[in-house]
Amino acid sequence: MSIISTTVTGCKFCEIVHHKKDPVLKENEQCAVVKDIKPKAKHHYLVISKKHISKPTDLTAGDISLVEEMERLGRDVLRTELKKNGEADIVEDMLMTGFHMPPLITIKHLHMHVIYPKSDMGMLSKYVTFKPGKVFKETTELTASIRDKAGLPPNPFEAKLEASDNPCKNDEHEELPAHAITN
Ligand SMILES: [Zn+2]
Ligand SMILES: [Zn+2]
Repeated sequence: MSIISTTVTGCKFCEIVHHKKDPVLKENEQCAVVKDIKPKAKHHYLVISKKHISKPTDLTAGDISLVEEMERLGRDVLRTELKKNGEADIVEDMLMTGFHMPPLITIKHLHMHVIYPKSDMGMLSKYVTFKPGKVFKETTELTASIRDKAGLPPNPFEAKLEASDNPCKNDEHEELPAHAITN
């Protein structure tokens, strides 16, 4: 886990998650969801961590569950909003979730962008400010790089089983006592 203080005075996102200055659409113990004030698509939400973590590159293996929880809550809100508008459920190919990377971070407090449908984005967003790669990391990319840095397997569920269960391994042949082979 990152050892970082919970609240930073003057941080806009700390104010949102702790004092609810802006309307919070949904929250839980770990994060809160608000609408992005400059939406790049019909649905554009920010999932903000309650703990003040300044940037995604500060995340460690212990924070992977936080990132996963942020995505879960973000999807939850998106699903609710789609339903409210009478729109069809999430189409995976149209969803983009991810984080801005330093130095392209305007508010230095961990927040995940949930953008839907991503085809709504203008040229500048699509090809510069939200282009997956250096300045913007999609959630799966980010968690993969955290796992990689920590020396964890890419996906814990696909970790190879150790090939240690060879049934013959412990079935050693009895060695003949030395005297038995003397002739
Ligand atoms: Zn903050
Ligand atoms: Zn951002």
